[in-house]
Amino acid sequence: MNRSPWAAAFLFLLGSTLALNAFEQPPEAERLRALGLLNYEPAALQRLLTPDSDFAPTRSPGAHDWLTLHEEPGQTFDDFFASKPNQPDAKHRIIYLQPIGEFPSKTSPRLSDLRAYAAAFFQLPVKVLPAVIPAADEFEPRQNPRSGDRQILTRRVLKFLQTRLPPDAFCILGVTMTDLYPDPSWNYVFGEASLRERVGIYSFARHDPAFWADPRPSDNEELILRRGCKVLAHETAHMFGLPHCIYYDCLVNGGNHLVEFDATPQHLCPVCLRKLHQSVGFDPVKRYEELSRFYRRHDWREDADWVAHQLSKVSPAKAPKK
Ligand SMILES: [Zn+2]
Ligand SMILES: [Zn+2]
Repeated sequence: MNRSPWAAAFLFLLGSTLALNAFEQPPEAERLRALGLLNYEPAALQRLLTPDSDFAPTRSPGAHDWLTLHEEPGQTFDDFFASKPNQPDAKHRIIYLQPIGEFPSKTSPRLSDLRAYAAAFFQLPVKVLPAVIPAADEFEPRQNPRSGDRQILTRRVLKFLQTRLPPDAFCILGVTMTDLYPDPSWNYVFGEASLRERVGIYSFARHDPAFWADPRPSDNEELILRRGCKVLAHETAHMFGLPHCIYYDCLVNGGNHLVEFDATPQHLCPVCLRKLHQSVGFDPVKRYEELSRFYRRHDWREDADWVAHQLSKVSPAKAPKK
């Protein structure tokens, strides 16, 4: 099975030498070229894709950030279209979430919330399958040589998931609270996906500050949910053929560590939103309305306000209340 060159985000290598890149922020002309001509897009979508001040250009990466350590060529909208990525169709349009192992309450994101978020974000039906509780020796478990944490091997889980792909699935995404490793030489990985086979596995084990022996904030459950939703949306975006974004601050930016990951926005930039829209064909206003309801329900005010501002561009009546 091929490991996607971009899907294994948040990779932490043991004993590997990483080249440092001098990432140069793409100038405005290049960002506009990446977005492509919008003339034939519907008027509302054109307004929502306008690269105004709501979309900041990519930040300059720090020494330990993704773009310093990983060369990313970027993918324009036209490149995306020409790549003929997997797309949902009438017979393959359900995103399945397959829990692997237990999801203890308080320290895990609620599966019903992950389902609701993914359904709003991708505008596709999302179903949660009954949990699979693996045997103690299943998926090549090991104790992490540094931390001693129990980990399971991603490629074994991905192989298992291939056998569980329902006929009406667009993709099946394993979710787990068990830590992962992609290869014995690696320390750990947050997630890995195989795009061709339409399977992915993501772990939320490291989203709880307690994992790092850090104090838990008072809103720890929302922090865990927020991180879970973000990683689910980011990694699933790869399933639609979106590689890491280099044009704007964007949910699909690569993230090399939790601080960088937390700093990436919860939303797609215009280039990535246009790609997802091309793939799914959703109503972008309905999508933002559903995301807005999710954010308000969870009191994610910054995201709710950001989405309300997007909606105000297509309907002044939906402008945020002052
Ligand atoms: Zn990624
Ligand atoms: Zn983007």
